[in-house]
Amino acid sequence: ELYNKILELKGNIRVFCRCRPLNFEEIEAGASMGIDVESTKNGEVIVMSNGLPKKSFKFDSVFAPSASQADVFEDTAPFATSVIDGYNVCIFAYGQTGTGKTFTMEGTPENRGVNYRTLKNLFEITKERENRYSYEISVSVLEVYNEQIRDLLVPASQNASTAKSKDNKFEIRQVNEGNHHVPGLVEARVTSIEEVWDVLKTGSNARAVGKTTANEHSSRSHCIHCVMVKGENLLTGECTKSKLWLVDLAGSERVAKTEVQGERLKETQSINKSLSALGDVIYALANKSSHIPFRNSKLTHLLQDSLGGDSKTLMFVQISPNEKDNSETLCSLNFASRVR
Ligand code: ADP
Ligand code: MG
Repeated sequence: ELYNKILELKGNIRVFCRCRPLNFEEIEAGASMGIDVESTKNGEVIVMSNGLPKKSFKFDSVFAPSASQADVFEDTAPFATSVIDGYNVCIFAYGQTGTGKTFTMEGTPENRGVNYRTLKNLFEITKERENRYSYEISVSVLEVYNEQIRDLLVPASQNASTAKSKDNKFEIRQVNEGNHHVPGLVEARVTSIEEVWDVLKTGSNARAVGKTTANEHSSRSHCIHCVMVKGENLLTGECTKSKLWLVDLAGSERVAKTEVQGERLKETQSINKSLSALGDVIYALANKSSHIPFRNSKLTHLLQDSLGGDSKTLMFVQISPNEKDNSETLCSLNFASRVR
């Protein structure tokens, strides 16, 4: 509660920067570090060139390559779990492919990420409060690819037949003020963390189906988990309904238009469109602009209810430590500074 008060004072948008470690291949190849976060304090990231500092950026938190999943979750938990107190929350992982977006959000079975840790924490909180509150938690898993929504909790073959609209695509409908909904999307009720793990696995398996390589596809689509929480205060009967969006964004790397054609060009344009729309929305919110351009992409339209107002937004900007990646790193850090 104290934390929430601090949030109110500082506004509802936070940016965390996380730098992955150099990987085995990079170490073998003698890669040099293009980033200094170890020697800096106070949330500073320094981009280095030939061992000299070139440009520095400040964020609300900065995680060095040595930071563990638990370290990251410690700072993330106050945001993520505030969904249980009725806040709408969006958490994004932004950055070049290979910088650890999926590692931060999904993690690995040995090193689970924000998605799993958040749900685990939510169940712990509901247990602590069970004498005073009753909660219902459900999860949807979807992806946005080429400006189309796909439900990852139903088999690929069923996606066309479950989609409600005439052209077999999921559509976003406004039910009433501040309440957007995607009719037909599966909302899996979960009552324990074991059930959550099954749902998360079903979702990530569905993502890979029928694709050339799972990794390639996942870097070109936005993978989204939506955690819906309905709460009832057993004493007063007061009810709350809120959503937490956990978004593993498509890779932000720039692709030269001259290099791609056909399907790949369409993908590239869709990604550029939605990432810049997201940047524009967060920038407009941070600057208290009177017009927030939610409708410019499927992604921002989908997340509309959970961006702005008293919603909370957290963006992870993921970066590579490799000096070779510095130009992409600078693009990501500039993007993130703009929204902060
Ligand atoms: P992205 O989703 O941004 O394309 P990934 O999450 O797939 O990137 O990460 C690329 C690789 O680097 C994966 O093998 C991942 O496990 C590893 N990795 C990323 N971040 C970290 C980290 N902080 N610590 C250890 N390994 C990491
Ligand atoms: Mg990924």
